[in-house]
Amino acid sequence: MINVSKPIIEKEEIDAVMEVMKSGMLAQGPRVKELENEFAKFCEADFAVAFNSGTAAIHSGLYALGVKAGDEVITTPFTFVATANPILMLGAKVVFCDIREDDFNIDPDKAEEKITQNTKAILPVDLFGQVYDYNKLEKISAGHNLKILEDACQAVGAEQSGKKAGKFGNIGAFSLYATKNIMSGEGGVVVTDDEDLAEKCRRFRHHGQSEQTKYEYWDIGFNYRMMDLQAAIGLAQLKKVEIFNAKRIENAKKLSHELADIKGLVLPQVLEGNKHVFHQYTIRVTENFKSTRAEFTAYLKEQGIGSGIYYPKPLHLHPHFLKMGFKEGDFPVAERLSTEVLSLPVHPSLTEDELNLIINSIKNYAK
Ligand SMILES: *Cc1c(COP(=O)(O)O)cnc(C)c1O
Repeated sequence: MINVSKPIIEKEEIDAVMEVMKSGMLAQGPRVKELENEFAKFCEADFAVAFNSGTAAIHSGLYALGVKAGDEVITTPFTFVATANPILMLGAKVVFCDIREDDFNIDPDKAEEKITQNTKAILPVDLFGQVYDYNKLEKISAGHNLKILEDACQAVGAEQSGKKAGKFGNIGAFSLYATKNIMSGEGGVVVTDDEDLAEKCRRFRHHGQSEQTKYEYWDIGFNYRMMDLQAAIGLAQLKKVEIFNAKRIENAKKLSHELADIKGLVLPQVLEGNKHVFHQYTIRVTENFKSTRAEFTAYLKEQGIGSGIYYPKPLHLHPHFLKMGFKEGDFPVAERLSTEVLSLPVHPSLTEDELNLIINSIKNYAK
């Protein structure tokens, strides 16, 4: 079976973990500091702070931006739930905004209508590995004095106008979960150019303590610390991020070239100025395609080809959010796209034979 994602664990990762094991210091220490330095350098950010998950990174980032009870945060319903839950953890209100068909990200034209006196921040997602429409959304947020937290969990190494993902807002948040473009098993990182925000994130990670004054509690906090064990894996992966992403981009290019003329399939679009790093290669199976999406995925499975549906239902249609008063019809584009999307394997360890099998199987099916 060709899986839709596959973590790469090589000698470098194994050796790095063994070294930490032998050092006897497993929890947050020098490797975490090193990962933060390297991550900041990679994103060309002034500061990076590491966490034990992407969710913790988003939670801390929103906290640092001052999001609190009574505030509203505008985000997309077409994402993993970890984008929205941190808003609720802070007692703030999730305000969904519908998405665009071409990049699956927040539609800036619809975002402005969502702004009220209580709006504190916008939380766009670089979905599937492509940076959101920063220029338009930034104009709107600046006009209303809002903060932006960029959920770049799927987009490490992506770029827009030559600038790295994570830099399109006051704070950018990454995930190093096992299936992301680079990983540490579990893990997360925020990047920012703002020293005060970075310090607030560090304290929030460590029960409100600063690194200088231990057992002095400045604010509320959690235990959101990353282990050196995880950081060692993350560091080994970060060295290979450009290689991994280049392979994803190459695989995506081949898929897009070969599948271009199939009726009813809409292939992923790379918007102008963007470097898309294809965390997922997500096509749309529209009503003009030969069969339903379910029949198509069943066929792919028979051929030994895994695929994924990200996401089968927009967030607002889950019981968790229906309780807040959202209903079907609220976000029609997200609702329709959730019935069409299908992610095909694009990960760096695909062999040429596997890629050809995917392409030929789809071409044969669509004939
Ligand atoms: C993976 C992911 C997260 C959360 O990351 P974890 O490390 O799993 O906590 C948040 N947002 C998006 C869009 C993600 O894909």
